[in-house]
Amino acid sequence: MASSFSNRSLVCPLLREIYLAGHITKPQAAQRLGVTAVTTHHLINHLLEQGILSQQGSTGNGPGRRAVCYSIRGEYGFLVSLDIHEGGFCIRAYSLSYKRLSEKRFALDMTYSSQTLEKIAAEACKTIQHHNIVHGRCLGLGVSLPGTTDHTTGVIYHLPRLAGWDYLPLKALLEQQTGVSVFLDNDANAMILAKKWRKELQGHRDAVYLSITQGIGAGVLCDGHLAYGRHSNFGEIGHTTLQPNGPLCTCGNRGCVDAMASDTALLREISERTGPTQHADIHQAVSFAQETAAGRDVLQFICQNIILCIDNIIKMYDPGIVFIGSTWLGDFPSLFDQIQEKVFARAHWIRRNELQLILSNVSEFRYCSGCAVALENLFSDESSVFSSL
Ligand SMILES: [Zn+2]
Repeated sequence: MASSFSNRSLVCPLLREIYLAGHITKPQAAQRLGVTAVTTHHLINHLLEQGILSQQGSTGNGPGRRAVCYSIRGEYGFLVSLDIHEGGFCIRAYSLSYKRLSEKRFALDMTYSSQTLEKIAAEACKTIQHHNIVHGRCLGLGVSLPGTTDHTTGVIYHLPRLAGWDYLPLKALLEQQTGVSVFLDNDANAMILAKKWRKELQGHRDAVYLSITQGIGAGVLCDGHLAYGRHSNFGEIGHTTLQPNGPLCTCGNRGCVDAMASDTALLREISERTGPTQHADIHQAVSFAQETAAGRDVLQFICQNIILCIDNIIKMYDPGIVFIGSTWLGDFPSLFDQIQEKVFARAHWIRRNELQLILSNVSEFRYCSGCAVALENLFSDESSVFSSL
C-alpha cells in the first residue's frame, strides 16, 4: 500500500527492537531510537495500519496510567527455512514469530546436479504455496549451508563435503524458481543467528556458536552483528592448526582443528586405535569407545582438542557466551564437565560468572537456522520487505 510516511529509515531499527524485546511501549521506543514522542507516535501508528504491529495490552504494576504495548504480529507473514547438509535437506515453514508451522525432510545424495537443485526448488515452492493459503505472504527463504558462502551475493564458495556446488549462484537460482527473496549463509553463522532471533543470548552481544559435527566451524557475533571478514572466513576456526604434522584435513593442510576434533576425526581415531569397526552412528561409536582403555584414550584426545579450540575462541573473540553444538557430547555430561573445568583453568583470569559455556544439542536444533538467516536479512536496514513499509 502506498504511504506518505516519511520516516522509513526508522522502520527496521524499531522492528528489530520490538522483535528482540518481545514488545515495546511508545516511550520506550522513543528512548531507544533517540527520536521524539511525536515521531514515535506516527511511526507506530503507521506500522499498526500496515498490519505488522498489534496492540498488546499494557505494562505497569502500580496504580496510575498504564502504557500500551506493541508487538509484531506473528501472522503478518511466514518464512521458509532450508537446511542443506551431507545427507539431504530439510524444509520448514515458520511464522514471523519463529513458530514452526511445518517440516519436510529429504534423504538424498547431495552431490550437485541440476536435478538436485530442481528437487530443492520444487519442494520449496510446494511449501510456499501450501502456506500462502492460510499464513499470508512468504517474506523470504533462508538457507543454511555446510561451507563458505558470499552472503552478500548469495554465491556459494565451497562446501568441503559436497561436490559440485562451488561458485554456484544459489540465491539467484532459487529466487528465479521460487519468486521469493532468498538469503543464504554458512551453517555455524546460521546457528548463532538462530540463538539471536530465538532470544537465547541472555542479553549478550558478543557470542559464539561452535559447531562440532562432521566438520568444525564457528559463527561469531561481535556487538550483536555477525562478523564475516574479507572472505566470509571469520569463524573458520576449524582450519586453524593444532598440530603441524597431524592428520590430513579436507582443506589440504595437516593437523587442523577440523581434522583433530570433529566427529569425522573421532570416528577415524576410534577405527585406527581400536581396530576397524562398523557403527550405525556417532552415539554408538562413542558408547563403544567408552568400554575400552584405547577407546577412552581417543575420547580424551578429542576432548583435549575441543578444549584447545574453545580456548582459542575465548582468547580471539572474547565472548560472553559460547554455545557448543555437538552431536554426541550431550550424552556424556561428565566429559562436558571436564571440558568446562579445563577451559576455565586455561583462562584463569575469567570468572565463571563472566563467561557461559552452553552445550547445545545439534539434533534438536539443527533444522531451524535457515529461518534466522532470513530474519537477519529481513530486519536489516537494507531489507526490501520492511524498509518499504
Ligand atoms: Zn583444514
